[in-house]
Amino acid sequence: MKRVSLLVKISIGFVLGIIFGFAIGPTVPNSEILSVYVIPFIDLVGKIFLRLLMMLIVPLVFSSLVAGAASVGDIHKLGRIGIKTLVLYLLTTAVAIIIGLACGNLFNPGVGMNIPGDIQATSKAAKPLVDVILDIFPTNPIASMVNANMLQIIVFALFFGVACILAGERGRKIADFFESIAEVMYKVTHIVMNVAPYGVFALITVTAAKFGIAILAPFVKVIAAVFIGCIIHALIVYSGMITVICRRSPKWFFKGIDEAAITAFVTRSSSGTLPVTLANVRDEFGISEGVSSFVLPLGATINMDGTALYQGVCALFVAQAFNVPMTLSMQIGIVVTATLASIGTAGVPGAGLIMLTMVLTSVGLPIEGIALVAGIDVILDSARTCLNVIGDTAVCAVVAATEGETLKS
Ligand code: ASP
Repeated sequence: MKRVSLLVKISIGFVLGIIFGFAIGPTVPNSEILSVYVIPFIDLVGKIFLRLLMMLIVPLVFSSLVAGAASVGDIHKLGRIGIKTLVLYLLTTAVAIIIGLACGNLFNPGVGMNIPGDIQATSKAAKPLVDVILDIFPTNPIASMVNANMLQIIVFALFFGVACILAGERGRKIADFFESIAEVMYKVTHIVMNVAPYGVFALITVTAAKFGIAILAPFVKVIAAVFIGCIIHALIVYSGMITVICRRSPKWFFKGIDEAAITAFVTRSSSGTLPVTLANVRDEFGISEGVSSFVLPLGATINMDGTALYQGVCALFVAQAFNVPMTLSMQIGIVVTATLASIGTAGVPGAGLIMLTMVLTSVGLPIEGIALVAGIDVILDSARTCLNVIGDTAVCAVVAATEGETLKS
């Protein structure tokens, strides 16, 4: 009952935010009271909510991952969970891009725009692969925590958790200690979620007020292609996985992770949503800490199905807008580079747009296309982040089910 009422409150905040935001949006003549007092105050509420979520991430992820790795108790099992997770993450991401390309081909969002462009786009130097790999390994785990570097935190926590198993009785005590910290951090998460309705209202109001309805019109097809692509991916791929492998209904699944999905939509950050995602799969699906605290933080860092799908749609949009013929081999190139780009995308707002430059340049499309997408990126970011987070939870449920866990019904 309590949970339902929180979700209802969050949804009310969401709807009111859209209505209020559009009502005070850019089309309303400048009002001093609105611009000097009302909007900055609402903006402040939204920013505080974001900070409260960010505040939870490092202590929650580290403690629950150490406790989780130690509770698995068996190093081979940990390795098996890791491999399963990575394979599922990669496969679902590749399918997402294909759906994105299909939606792009269906909606043809850029056809007729005829923008003259410089096709000889200069290729921006992406970080060399060796550096990307090297960067996974921390030199100083405390610095990794200070900088909230997720992959480094995950690596150190796994070493630490496994060592707790190997250290016997003394290690057990340390693992119990982190288990208690994780438990307390979950409670902090629940406290923070009580302000979610206000935070959601504030975030969505500010976005809607900034954009107004008018700015969206020329981009309706791109927005539709990304949103519909995300819905198709969630309804077919995730629902299919949940039905076939977890033997649960899609309704059960989507109802269980609704808070995380809404939080992702408004915060536009997978990392920021992570505490809510962890709480949802734990409370609603009964997934163990051993699985959830490994699969979800990793997913918030590397698994971005929504981002990949968006990159597929946008690459096609840019090609059409600049009249660049899109060959099959270019589309295959997009599947490969967008998969890699989405892995490298940080779980923070707007990161996907930066990585889109990599996708465009790697298949020879004009980077100026970024400017076209940038104007509406916030709206696309909401949809893709929402899918990113739902994808993490779907894989988490599948891994838990295949590890023999009984999911709550
Ligand atoms: N905002 C997305 C996320 O946090 C990343 C992106 O910009 O695509 O999941």
